[in-house]
Amino acid sequence: MENFSDLMENEEAFRFFLELYADLPRQGPGDDRITRHTFGLLTSLPPRPVTIDMGCGSGAQTLELARAGCQITAVDLHQIFLDHLIQRMKKINPEPLITPVCTGMESYSPPTPVDLIWSEGAVYNIGFENGLSLWKNHLKNGGFLVVSEMTWLIQNPPAPVKEFWDREYPSMQTVLDNQKCIEKVGYRWIGSFLLPESAWDAFYAPQKENIARIRMDGSLSPVQEEVLAIIEDEIRIFEEYRGTYGYVFYLMQRVA
Ligand code: SAM
Repeated sequence: MENFSDLMENEEAFRFFLELYADLPRQGPGDDRITRHTFGLLTSLPPRPVTIDMGCGSGAQTLELARAGCQITAVDLHQIFLDHLIQRMKKINPEPLITPVCTGMESYSPPTPVDLIWSEGAVYNIGFENGLSLWKNHLKNGGFLVVSEMTWLIQNPPAPVKEFWDREYPSMQTVLDNQKCIEKVGYRWIGSFLLPESAWDAFYAPQKENIARIRMDGSLSPVQEEVLAIIEDEIRIFEEYRGTYGYVFYLMQRVA
C-alpha cells in the first residue's frame, strides 16, 4: 500500500478525503474539556488573549478557545474546513471573535506579536521543530505556545506499528525528544500530558460511522476505496497497539 501523502497527490483522492474530513466534528484526536483545561493552565494570560489557532480545521478547539475568551485568528490551508468553521460560528449568538484566514501556517505572520499560539494536531504538517522555530517569532515575550503532537510512548514499539508510522510519519518522536527540541529552540518548557484514549475514540467513532454510511450509499471508485483503506488501516493500528503512541499536549513559553 502506498503511503497517505503519496495517495494525496492524486486529485480525486485528495478531494474525496477533504470532503470526508471536513464533515467531521474534529479533524484529529481531542476533547473540548481538555482544550479548556489546558488553556486554564496558562495562568498569566491577559483577559482577552490575542491568539492564533494554527491548522484549525473545522474549528472544534477554536470555538472552545473563543468561549474561554480568546480573540482568535484561525489559520488553515483549506477553505473547506474554514467554511465549516464559519457555519459553526454563525450558529452562536453573539458570534465569537474569530477571524478565519486561508493560508499556510508556515507563512502566516500576525501584524503584531500575540499572547498565545495554539495548534492541535497540525504542526506535524510543517515539522515539529520548524513550526516551533517559526512561531516563536510571532509571540510576545512571555507569550505561550501550546501544541498537540503524535508521540511515541515506548522506546521499542512492535514491528507492525513501527512500520506503519515509519511510512506515515517517520519523524514522530518521544516526549523526551520533543522536550529537548522545545528547549533547543529556546522556549521555557512548562510541561506535557497525554490525551486520554477517549479523545481518539471521539475522532475515530464519527469516521467509522461516515465510512459505513458511504459504503452503504453506493459504489466507490478504486481511488476512493484506497483512501478508505488507509484510514481504516490507521484505525486498526491504533486499536491493536493502544498505548504505544498517542497525542501529547506540549506547553511552552517564549522567554526573553
Ligand atoms: N486542529 C484541528 C483539529 O484538531 O481538529 C485540525 C487538525 S488536522 C489533523 C490538521 C489541519 O492542518 C487540517 O485542517 C489541515 O487542513 C491543516 N493544514 C495542513 N497543512 C497546513 C499548512 N501548511 N498550513 C495551514 N494549515 C494546514
